[in-house]
Amino acid sequence: MKHDLYEDQEVERLDREALKALQLLRLKKTVSTALSTPFYKKRLKDTGITSAKDIHTLEDIRKIPYTTKDDLREAYPYGLLSVELDEVVRMHASSGTTGTPTVIYHTQADLDNWTNLTVRSLKATGCHKGDVFQNMMTYGLFTGGIGLHYGAEKLGMLVIPASSGNTKRQFQLMKDFKTTTIHATPSYMLHLYSRMEELGYSLKDFNLKRALIGAEPHSEEVRQKIEDLFQIDAYNSYGLSEMNGPSVAFECTEKKGMHIWEDAYYVETIDRNSLEPVADGTEGELVLTILVRTGTPILRYRTKDLTTVMPEPCSCGRTSRRITRIKGRTDDMLIINGVNVFPSQIEEVIMKMPEIGNNYLIKVKKEGTLDRLTIHTEVGAELFTDDARDLYSLKSRIKEEVKALITINPAVELHEPGFLPVQLGKAIRVEDERGQVY
Ligand code: AMP
Ligand code: ZN
Repeated sequence: MKHDLYEDQEVERLDREALKALQLLRLKKTVSTALSTPFYKKRLKDTGITSAKDIHTLEDIRKIPYTTKDDLREAYPYGLLSVELDEVVRMHASSGTTGTPTVIYHTQADLDNWTNLTVRSLKATGCHKGDVFQNMMTYGLFTGGIGLHYGAEKLGMLVIPASSGNTKRQFQLMKDFKTTTIHATPSYMLHLYSRMEELGYSLKDFNLKRALIGAEPHSEEVRQKIEDLFQIDAYNSYGLSEMNGPSVAFECTEKKGMHIWEDAYYVETIDRNSLEPVADGTEGELVLTILVRTGTPILRYRTKDLTTVMPEPCSCGRTSRRITRIKGRTDDMLIINGVNVFPSQIEEVIMKMPEIGNNYLIKVKKEGTLDRLTIHTEVGAELFTDDARDLYSLKSRIKEEVKALITINPAVELHEPGFLPVQLGKAIRVEDERGQVY
């Protein structure tokens, strides 16, 4: 059992063979835990897996069927609970907008494991004792807020549990308590900046060093924009409530992909049509198995998130593989006149243009038999003069560059700052008037 006793520092730098041995040990435990739940007892019935002894190698995981969000809903409320209820000390539920929520139960040991992963993630971005951590993610059933809270405290940061919204108060806290580190959605970071001057603040009032941004897809251009506007480093943070929440994968200070903590998560990527595993380096849907949770085991969870596993070692020395930034969710993909388009592709084009403001919205509707894509975006107030030439040329540039990337000719509408709806939680970037909202 030596393998389960690694110190965190050690586990981040284990050689691949030792890491795989640790994963196998933990996978066996997890399968055994899963078999104690009504859901997996039934699900594994026809697979020949009746105990952990039937798992000999990591590849044996492929005998286990995938678990989907619908499965978790079906198991509501207790179908995936694997301990006595009085062992559970916390529950979280998904932010799903429709139907039955999905519930995750944590024992104290589960929370301790999660906290350790968040300490590790925060350290990877350079956070340390003495930093002031203003947590602008929503606290509640959603895991974004509370998820990093305990790890930040354990690391010794001063934690300001500000939660989301109330932009004026956020600025006051940032100034009065010399916040060094913000945790927020990228869309909220952009919103924050757009209100700064009007609320009477400037960058000189603050002591900001970094932002941890996540909970929603965003492009490299948006990261760059946040870094330039605030003159800080911004690190991508990925997680989902089914796999605890934030700290599934995190960027280190190299900022080249997110380390996925493989001692805690077994990583697969699959082709979203054939559902067969794809090789590292090939884009696919991320499938995760949590290896260190006893309250709610989840095996081979189809996250719907599209990414690519990067097998090359990172120069920071951590040996866990990295994943590329999430391109989007498979269910975010728009099909416009037969062409597959991810909102992140459009974001990439517009956010690298300096004239573009901090908010945008993509609308799709039917015009006759055809689909019509319209990009609404805010631009600086200074562009709205009597002379419309600048606006006109910006519009043409957006149209041309979007067309070059996705082959679809969009309509573009430019608006003054503050025109589009403010995004406080996970940003809604697409209104599909053909019947779906993302
Ligand atoms: P929830 O379980 O409600 O916290 O939502 C988790 C989902 O948010 C993930 O499956 C992703 O689709 C999305 N998400 C979280 N973090 C990121 C990130 N850094 N980049 C892109 N999408 C993210
Ligand atoms: Zn690294």
